[in-house]
Amino acid sequence: MRNLSPRRVVIKIGTNTICRQDGTVDHDYIADIARQVVELESKGIQSIIVTSGAIGSGSTELNLNGKNKDIPMKQACAAVGQAILMLAYRTAFAKYAKPVGQILVTYGAFSDRKRYLNLRKTIEELFKLGVVPIVNENDVIATDEIDEVFGDNDKLSALVAANMDADLLILLTDVDGLYDRNPNFDPDARLLTVVDEITKDIERIAGDKRNERSVGGMRTKIAAAKIAMQSGCNMVIANGRLENVVLRVVEGEEIGTLFTATPKYTIKERWILFACPRGKLVIDEGAEKAVKEGKSLLLCGVQSIEGNFKKGDVVRIGNFAKGIVNFSSAEIVAMKVSSKCENSDQNSNRIRKAIIESENIVLLN
Ligand code: GLU
Repeated sequence: MRNLSPRRVVIKIGTNTICRQDGTVDHDYIADIARQVVELESKGIQSIIVTSGAIGSGSTELNLNGKNKDIPMKQACAAVGQAILMLAYRTAFAKYAKPVGQILVTYGAFSDRKRYLNLRKTIEELFKLGVVPIVNENDVIATDEIDEVFGDNDKLSALVAANMDADLLILLTDVDGLYDRNPNFDPDARLLTVVDEITKDIERIAGDKRNERSVGGMRTKIAAAKIAMQSGCNMVIANGRLENVVLRVVEGEEIGTLFTATPKYTIKERWILFACPRGKLVIDEGAEKAVKEGKSLLLCGVQSIEGNFKKGDVVRIGNFAKGIVNFSSAEIVAMKVSSKCENSDQNSNRIRKAIIESENIVLLN
């Protein structure tokens, strides 16, 4: 048995798990998930569901299965399918008099501190009100910002887990977990029950093209595992069709592959770590040394600025850290210019201004 004892669980359900062969939403399956979530709640464990299936079920509803779809058509499918999904969840949880709440997010919601804090507050409020939060990517608008597109709910669910302080992420999928080799090609393939570290070997197994197709998108699951593990959140990849899978994983039964948490960062550090950087500060050697020693980044150490960012945005510091800037890119450029022209006391104060405070800096691995 594993000792997971979570307080807050994120349950991610993949499209192939939530939809039937014919592409329609599997209402019985959702009903079964609802039952398990309600049982967890009776034990004091909160759940956030991250659901896929909007594009798939929308495509079925619009008779578009098998047709080539461009992005706008997929977005249209998502708009239709999202309503179908939510209705299915609402119906399933209504049996237990539990309301559900729809949360549609883009990567941007996790990169802008205000939007992220709003998201966090709303989810906490939903819990207080006894509502089950049901999250999906806002596919309808997400691809407008190509750089911000999640593309997959594996990463989305890991970001939700990391930023919502979950201690267990369960990826329910159509395979049993991570194998050391492709089980469809190799009868000696072994299911890995525990992964404590994402080694080059693990990346290789997951990145294998044959593995990708037939073992079910392991690459994105490994990327999700990295986020979850660094956030102090255990992650289990399990076959979503196993009986009572959610309850059994939570209880610690050795199902699927467990990626063990390596707690390292505070919740704020996690936010900085996983936010999409809006720019980059190139800094000199002295500043790099200072930042690595846990000091603030001062104006005098900044050599050049890349990108267009606002005060409060997350930027890269060289290639070794990320942090929240105290000034916009335009302000930093202006301060640099005037610091070169003046030679006064006022100026020496200016160049010692903290562009990023030490407590807002996270060193990357
Ligand atoms: N957001 C997509 C949908 O609901 C799913 C993306 C994924 O399967 O990872 O259809």
